[in-house]
Amino acid sequence: MVVGAGYVSNGQSTGLFGGRLPFTLHCRRHDAEGLQPAAASRKIDYPRPDGVLSFDRLSSVHLANVGHREDQPCHLRLADPTLPVRDNLPRYAEPAQRYCPAGVYEIVAGPAGERLQINGQNCLHCKSCDIKDPAGNIHWTAPEGGGGPRYPNM
Ligand code: SF4
Repeated sequence: MVVGAGYVSNGQSTGLFGGRLPFTLHCRRHDAEGLQPAAASRKIDYPRPDGVLSFDRLSSVHLANVGHREDQPCHLRLADPTLPVRDNLPRYAEPAQRYCPAGVYEIVAGPAGERLQINGQNCLHCKSCDIKDPAGNIHWTAPEGGGGPRYPNM
């Protein structure tokens, strides 16, 4: 409903008013407030990518031609590094593993137990993690040296 209203609004704004629509649609709720606990959610069985019309995440990241210097400090910072495993994993099955389009976030098992691994070199700079983390714990910062996706044909 809100998405449909957005399309109508965009059409009016650009087509009828030349980009000078005299009002703005607002969503008063923070995006992360809409997140449902994993226990209240239905698991979706997505079909496997066929490599023709649908592709796995890492193949798509490869197409984005992402480049970050491997040894630069991670530009994705956690305010509380213990929060993902302590709070997000049991309540939300750590949603960063699913909403990040580049597969940057992974829960991995280590000698000291589970931890959130951040593969920052794959980041597409969409900033979803900065918006969608339920505790606002992830902070996207600008990477060094203009690293990021390069779309040479756009
Ligand atoms: S900015 Fe986007 S691509 Fe980068 S880590 Fe966050 S969600 Fe993933």
